[in-house]
Amino acid sequence: MLTDNFGRKFYYLRLSITDVCNFSCTYCLPDGYQCDQPRDFLSLPEIRRIANGFAQLGTEKIRITGGEPSLRKDLPEIIAACKETQGIKRVAITTNAFKLPEHLPSWLDAGIDAINISIDSLDPRQFHSITGHNKLPHILKGIDMALAHGQTTVKVNTVLMREYNAYDMQTFLDWLKDTPVTLRFIELMQTGENQEFFDAQHVQGSRIKQNLILDGWLPAIRDKSAGPAQEFYHPDYAGRIGLIMPYSNDFCSTCNRLRVSSLGKLHLCLFTEEGLSLKDYLQQDDVEPLKQHIINMMGNKKATHFLHEKLTGATTNLAMLGG
Ligand code: SAM
Repeated sequence: MLTDNFGRKFYYLRLSITDVCNFSCTYCLPDGYQCDQPRDFLSLPEIRRIANGFAQLGTEKIRITGGEPSLRKDLPEIIAACKETQGIKRVAITTNAFKLPEHLPSWLDAGIDAINISIDSLDPRQFHSITGHNKLPHILKGIDMALAHGQTTVKVNTVLMREYNAYDMQTFLDWLKDTPVTLRFIELMQTGENQEFFDAQHVQGSRIKQNLILDGWLPAIRDKSAGPAQEFYHPDYAGRIGLIMPYSNDFCSTCNRLRVSSLGKLHLCLFTEEGLSLKDYLQQDDVEPLKQHIINMMGNKKATHFLHEKLTGATTNLAMLGG
C-alpha cells in the first residue's frame, strides 16, 4: 500500500491523458489552449502499465481527466484498459461533456462507473460566457441520458465565483430537487496564470456550508477512496451537495490522491514543483521497477500545499493536471 511520511494512504489516482482543451473557461484557459510544439501524451500501453503498477500498490480508483479527455479518440479503450486492471474497482472521468449524448454509449460499453461534469452555471448564456461554448442544453441532455441508463454515478463540478454563481444558490437547489446528481461546489484555486481573476472572484465554501446546515442538509459518510468533497444530503432533495474547500485548514489531512500528468509525470500534489517523470519506467510490461520508483518518491510528499502563502508551484493552470 502506498503510504507517505504522514500516514496517509493513496487509494486514488487522477490520470490526465491530454492537456488539450476545447473550452476556454475564464478561470482556467481564458485565451484557449495554446501550445507551439507537438506533445507526446501517454500511449495506451503506457496507460495500462501505470494502471497496473498503481493497482499493485493499492490504488482502487482511477479518474481519467485532462485537458479535455474526450478529445482523445482512444478514450473508450483507455476506460476499458483501466477497468480491466486487476485491483481497480472504479473508473471515473472528469469532463466538460461537450458531446456527452454522442460519447455516452461507448463510455458505458467500456465500463465507466462515474462521470463528473463541469457546469459552472445553469443559465445557458452565462455558461456560454464562462466557457466560450453554447453547449449547456446539450450537456444537460447527456446528463439525463446517463441518469436514465443508471450504470454510472453523475456528479457536477461547479467552481464558485463571486460574479457568476456564489450568490445564486436557488437555481442549483431547484435543479437538485428532482435531479439525482451530486453537485460539488469547488472553491476557486489560485494558479500561476489566474491571480487577478482569483483575487476578484474567490469565495469561501464555508459560507455555503453554514447555510446548508441551517437549511437542514446533513453530512454524508466519506468512503476511503472518496474524492476531496464534504458531501451533504437532504430528505427533500433527490440530489446531493458537495463542497471542495482546498483553503480549509484540514483539507490536506484526508488526501488520498496522487496524479500522473499526460506527459507521464507523477505529481505528489496539485500544487508542487515540476512533476517526477515515470516515462523511463513505462517502456516495459514488468511494472516492478515502476512500483519501486513510485515508492521511493513518496517520501517527498509534503504535509500540505502552500496555497495560503499564494505559492502555486509549477501549476500555471489546472488544464495541465486535470484539476
Ligand atoms: N476538461 C475537464 C473538465 O472540464 O472537467 C477536465 C479538466 S478540468 C481542469 C477539471 C476541473 O478543474 C473542472 O471541474 C474545472 O472546473 C476545475 N478547475 C479548473 N481550474 C480551476 C481553478 N483554478 N480552481 C478550481 N477548479 C478549477
